[in-house]
Amino acid sequence: MKQLYHFVDGRAVPGESDRFSPVYNASTGEQIFELPLATADEVRAVIASSAKAFPGWANTAPSARARVMFRFKDLLEQNMDELSELCSIEHGKVKSDAAGSITRGLEVVEFACGIPQLLKGEFSANVAAGIDLYSMRQPLGVVAGITPFNFPAMVPMWMFPVAIACGNCFILKPSEKDPSLPLRLAELMMEAGAPEGVLNVVNGDKLAVDTLIEDPNVKAVSFVGSTPIANYVYERCAHFGKRVQAMGGAKNHMIVMPDADMEQAVDALMGAGYGSAGERCMAVSVAVPVGQDTADELVARLKPRIEALKVGPSLDPASEMGPLVTAEHLAKVKGYVDLGVQEGADLVVDGRDFRAQGYENGFFMGGCLFDNVTDDMRIYKEEIFGPVLSVVRAPDFDEALRLPTEHEFGNGVAIFTRDGDAARDFTANVEVGMVGINVPIPVPMAFYSFGGWKNSAFGDMNQHGPDGVRFYTRTKTVTSRWPTGIRAGAEFAMPTPGSE
Ligand code: NAD
Repeated sequence: MKQLYHFVDGRAVPGESDRFSPVYNASTGEQIFELPLATADEVRAVIASSAKAFPGWANTAPSARARVMFRFKDLLEQNMDELSELCSIEHGKVKSDAAGSITRGLEVVEFACGIPQLLKGEFSANVAAGIDLYSMRQPLGVVAGITPFNFPAMVPMWMFPVAIACGNCFILKPSEKDPSLPLRLAELMMEAGAPEGVLNVVNGDKLAVDTLIEDPNVKAVSFVGSTPIANYVYERCAHFGKRVQAMGGAKNHMIVMPDADMEQAVDALMGAGYGSAGERCMAVSVAVPVGQDTADELVARLKPRIEALKVGPSLDPASEMGPLVTAEHLAKVKGYVDLGVQEGADLVVDGRDFRAQGYENGFFMGGCLFDNVTDDMRIYKEEIFGPVLSVVRAPDFDEALRLPTEHEFGNGVAIFTRDGDAARDFTANVEVGMVGINVPIPVPMAFYSFGGWKNSAFGDMNQHGPDGVRFYTRTKTVTSRWPTGIRAGAEFAMPTPGSE
């Protein structure tokens, strides 16, 4: 079996441990690689490589760092076909979807190209006699990113382009389920001119994550993944006094008001519920039609659309939905469908027995639709992360607002309506971090920041955009006076401008 590697000091480094994780082609079910899981010593060697690269990189002019990002962006565009294919094979999302997600990462690279402007400090002349005051943003040092399987390029690119453009050296610990694409991104960064050690990739599991968190040379940790692990990473980093942003799971609701354009709402639910087989942190997994007539019409329209979904191998351009990422995850998602039936929800479309012809070992299931789901059911409370949409019928607007507001997660939410007043009221009062109005997946552009509320995100700063720059830098303020020949003598009172 072919072994993958780590990427350190600008080159592929074979693993030394005797622990491996299998990597699959999700459509065929075949194991394609063995991924070495780093030992603590291997992780420490990677940290040492990054720490060595840091002083030189931090002292490289921001405009020179930006030029690396410009070239990296070009390389992403030139290699888009190959990169999307890598993503599609291991993750299982269809190739067009893979390309779209890489483009969303590329947009963060475009944002990072503006780093000379973004790093500009503040200056106040003459705040007291002969005294100037200014602030500057400085990089932190070695920073680490731990990323999930569902966006093997986009989520790492939420992090490393901004971190590196700010002058840090970045260690990526990608998901062990689809590591080929992150490894390829690191190669492209070298081709773009990033010095050795500025972007290292270490493959591993909990041991690698714990070693990164515990090492004093790692100054900040960015995490994206499931809520229990996000919470763990947040608490451990806090324990070590480390800067941390940790994004977790989600249960995104889409409210359908009686006046919504029903065709638009159904199209939106198909894409947002079943695109990427529901393995998106911004997937819509709960539809909340308001009023029985709206609910009846919505379910009646959704059912034939879900039954007609073209599920097939991820590289087949005719496929609308590919397989899930692993057999284990497939079993978990199907288990949730079994649970929903036991809990008394109505399974309107059952995709559990779907088999893709010629790909019988692939990790496939068809789309599922539950109706009459209630807020005490586990299929409502917990993240399923698969192609399973739950319809929770709400009698009125107040109930539709209450459901996402009181839910444990608060990543994304959408409202479909023609009523500006209802949309405005909803937007102002819903306790969720990212809101869409007639937009099902309200992922902010790269120049805004991405992040949910409640148990969907731990830490104070969000991903990319202005928060990304704040997260990966610290502010230094300098109060400066040059000798003028005026001697005020020793001053024992707290200085104020008037006292100078
Ligand atoms: P995961 O939590 O299993 O893994 C994420 C990362 O943590 C991986 O790199 C993994 O190796 C590491 N990890 C796993 N177990 C660990 C442990 N015990 N200790 C330390 N590290 C550990 O998540 P996943 O299954 O890869 O990704 C899917 C999850 O990510 C979903 O819950 C999804 O909602 C979430 N997600 C959230 C966002 C967001 O921005 N909120 C974005 C994408 C994905």
